[in-house]
Amino acid sequence: MSDILTGLFRPKSIAIIGASTTPGKIGHTVVKNLVESKYEGGIFPVNPSADEILGFKVYKSVLDIQEPIDAAVITIPARFVLETVKECGQKGVKGLIVITSGFSEVGDVELEHEIVKTAHAYNMRVLGPNVVGTLSNSDKMNASFAPFLPLNGDASLVTQSGALLIAMDAITYTRRIGFDKMISIGNMSDVNFGDTVAWLNKDENTKCISLYVEGLKDGSRFIQESSKATKPIVVLKSGVSEHGAAAAASHTGSLAGAQKIYSAAFKQAGAIQATDLGDLFDCTLALSLQPPMRGDNLLILTNGGGVGVLATDSAESAGIPLKFAPETVQEELKKHMPSFGSAKNPVDLTGMAGNDWYYKSTKFAFAHEWVEGLVVLYCETAMTDPLEIAKSIHKAVTETNIEDKPITVSFVGGKRSAEAMQWLVEQGIPAYEAPDLAVHAMGTLHEYAQLKEINQEKVNGDLKVDQAAAREVIEQVRADDRTNLTEIESKKIFSAYNLPTAKTILAKSEEETVKYAEEIGYPVVCKIVSPDILHKSDAGGVKVNLKSETEVREAYKTILSNAKNYKADADIHGILVQEMAPWATETIIGSVNDATFGATVMFGLGGIFVEVLKDVTFRVAPISNREARLMLDEIRGGPILDGTRGEAPRDKESLARVLELYALMVKDLEDEIKESDANPVLVYEQGKGVKVVDARIILKEK
Ligand code: ADP
Ligand code: MG
Repeated sequence: MSDILTGLFRPKSIAIIGASTTPGKIGHTVVKNLVESKYEGGIFPVNPSADEILGFKVYKSVLDIQEPIDAAVITIPARFVLETVKECGQKGVKGLIVITSGFSEVGDVELEHEIVKTAHAYNMRVLGPNVVGTLSNSDKMNASFAPFLPLNGDASLVTQSGALLIAMDAITYTRRIGFDKMISIGNMSDVNFGDTVAWLNKDENTKCISLYVEGLKDGSRFIQESSKATKPIVVLKSGVSEHGAAAAASHTGSLAGAQKIYSAAFKQAGAIQATDLGDLFDCTLALSLQPPMRGDNLLILTNGGGVGVLATDSAESAGIPLKFAPETVQEELKKHMPSFGSAKNPVDLTGMAGNDWYYKSTKFAFAHEWVEGLVVLYCETAMTDPLEIAKSIHKAVTETNIEDKPITVSFVGGKRSAEAMQWLVEQGIPAYEAPDLAVHAMGTLHEYAQLKEINQEKVNGDLKVDQAAAREVIEQVRADDRTNLTEIESKKIFSAYNLPTAKTILAKSEEETVKYAEEIGYPVVCKIVSPDILHKSDAGGVKVNLKSETEVREAYKTILSNAKNYKADADIHGILVQEMAPWATETIIGSVNDATFGATVMFGLGGIFVEVLKDVTFRVAPISNREARLMLDEIRGGPILDGTRGEAPRDKESLARVLELYALMVKDLEDEIKESDANPVLVYEQGKGVKVVDARIILKEK
């Protein structure tokens, strides 16, 4: 399959179907662009009513061409495309670049589907339709209607927006950020982001993969391919999709948003998420030129206190807060600055710093083992020449021969600084016009190292669960023609996955209720059990802390009458009697089945305010234990679990394990479970465990 994609992205010969003699028409532009980019492969225009275009012989049909054809660029109107696809198949073409629009993007899903089916029957792959084309500097190939090849460089871009490809192509020259390939992916009827990531990861001319994504088609495949990738991936995601906003019956359903789940998925894929277009370029520059930052020790060198402070502030938000350098490092650095300089971190060489001080301090700092990432800042001064400073920094770094440690730079100044920074970028040192950008670029390199490390963790290595028992419960509910599980049914599934639940017994009468209350031991909780009452407290269906037989009898009657008032025809299975769990920190664990990524798991602080505070975080299921622990720390209320105001720390270890099991449960039962939650999940002191006191599972409609 992958050499077919090579035929698509690095073709040795190209047929242009719908090539035109009329300048300005796309069929003409593509031929012209191939010529102007100095493409060395075969160029074969196809058009039944032309003889010659730009000096090339025109063929009536792709079948008339004698030479083998790797890729066919299709520019003819939508209604003729299918016929051409068949001919390309007969000809033995490998890949189709379908520029033609007017398919699924305007509602014609059927025709697009036919094209892919036909292409696959001939073992061809389809890029698009509705694309700008594909460009490759290393192949001197502009097989698109974008006007020129991008500035040459080490990154490759895949974009779902064709207009953005053309714009970014131009920006590469003003931002001086180079790309090798630019691929327009269009409607993704066949070739999708997962395919391109996998292919670019093997492409010898690509060092960093940049993506502009509006929506993924096969989320799991994308995560899988990106996790496997050994090259950095940076992705800009736009658009607020509606599919997460469907009416939800669970807490989790109402809290899930497509964007939150996308962000989680990118993390799990080991991909850096850019915040905007400028950031996409900034991250691409850093990731394509520098190695990841392994460790947390960042050192900042500067000649100005002001930019030093700005950089220090940014270090915090970039996830690499500054620490003081060790004494030995400070002592050495003091040799390269005046007495009023500062060797703490940021290291202030002062405005007196010239080439030599920059050279010596950069060389020492970059080579020192304590320093795991170096940011060098420079403010233009009257006494110094920015280009000379740039050269000193470059010389210092080169002479250390260190290639597994990153450096970023910012020169603050005018035209001369801009030129010096351009020179640095050409030497492979990312340079940014503002100190915070240089620090954030380092933050990106740091984040990348972390994401990749977390990525290596094994998922659910030693968990023992009973999937068959869980499926049995689901079958019984299906046999009853329901999709809502009661708390008791949900808890049976939870128990099959070893989730700790409060002891619960279903009572069918007042006498049974009393009997079970005595069996469990006072105080107890009584709740309504009905598939028609999902939120039990709303219906007056929960009575807690019942301390005696009298209170239980009372509760039994009240709950039943409340339920009848709430919903007269509710199907009531009985009353559940439950141990009264001592109070503890209330959290929520839940799941939704996302249209793009399948089963996802959510964690947050629970209780009645969960929907107001929305302090929750998501992951695509399943997750590793490490990932589960990260989720606990990631929410704003995270410190509550560590014990605040003299409270003892909570049992995060048990909680993480429960979260991991929960994710496994919703993944295993992905074909059945639509959404679910455990709210609250009570978290006790360290070593004392976790208890699920309420459970809700809603099945998919079948
Ligand atoms: P629902 O969410 O359907 O209204 P719950 O079972 O979550 O019903 O009960 C409502 C609240 O009652 C819970 O959020 C919790 O604070 C409390 N509660 C329920 N069951 C127990 C229990 N076994 N022990 C202690 N508190 C409980
Ligand atoms: Mg509840």
